[in-house]
Amino acid sequence: MWDDLLIFQKGCAISQLLIDDSADAAFVVYGSRRRRPCLDSARQERKVILMEQDNTSALRPVRDWFQTKRVERTVRALEKNGFETLFVPDGESATRAISERIPDESMVGVGGSMTLDQIGFFAHMRKRGIDLLDPFGEGVTWDERQEISRRIFTSDVFVCSANAVTEEGHLYSIDGTGNRVAAMVFGPKRTIIVCGVNKIAGDMTEARKRAWQEAAPLNARRLGRKTPCAETGACSDCNAPDRICRVAVEVLKKPAASDILVIIVGEALGF
Ligand code: SF4
Repeated sequence: MWDDLLIFQKGCAISQLLIDDSADAAFVVYGSRRRRPCLDSARQERKVILMEQDNTSALRPVRDWFQTKRVERTVRALEKNGFETLFVPDGESATRAISERIPDESMVGVGGSMTLDQIGFFAHMRKRGIDLLDPFGEGVTWDERQEISRRIFTSDVFVCSANAVTEEGHLYSIDGTGNRVAAMVFGPKRTIIVCGVNKIAGDMTEARKRAWQEAAPLNARRLGRKTPCAETGACSDCNAPDRICRVAVEVLKKPAASDILVIIVGEALGF
């Protein structure tokens, strides 16, 4: 019923779109008033009926407390599992933190990621004059994509996101070609994984559920894939040629030959 209402414009950092079939409206929840222009443009297009989150609500401190505790548990567990970990409050700080770790002249690879787009990472790298190895860059052909993906294994820094990070300190991701998850665990000299707080799951069971029942259908829909989930919004373990979930990787401890930094951002980012 709400198919026409689904919007997720590039550069428009709406953090979550909550849709209730039985309701008379779709609700957009966002985390920062700086993003007002995006919401205004959505409102003008009359694609959604907006209910703005009340940031002054008495519930806000309780929500913030809960989130802080969740992040603290996740950071502690990641560090216990050998990952260097950093918490930053917002996307801008995340981009700054990544950029500080990328020396000039570095060879930098990226995994397809809405999160990196939302935090302004691509724009920042362009401004710095750093050419990215981006297998999903504009105009990249299938053959070029394979070539770039292989070159990423020898890059200085690889930046990507995961589909979920657990409070037990594990990472979970699913991929279509496997290039992102492969480079995430082996190859590049340094790997930086960026996750919004919305990707924190209690444990691996919850992480798998979030990846298969939420992230994958949303991504299939976003990419215009001809899969059942892009229509129904739920995974049916399809056999469609367009299936985007072909490899699933659980990272339980920092892989022995990798140097991984996990950045948790205090905002909802990506799927
Ligand atoms: S397996 Fe198929 S139906 Fe399930 S999430 Fe992946 S693409 Fe969608």
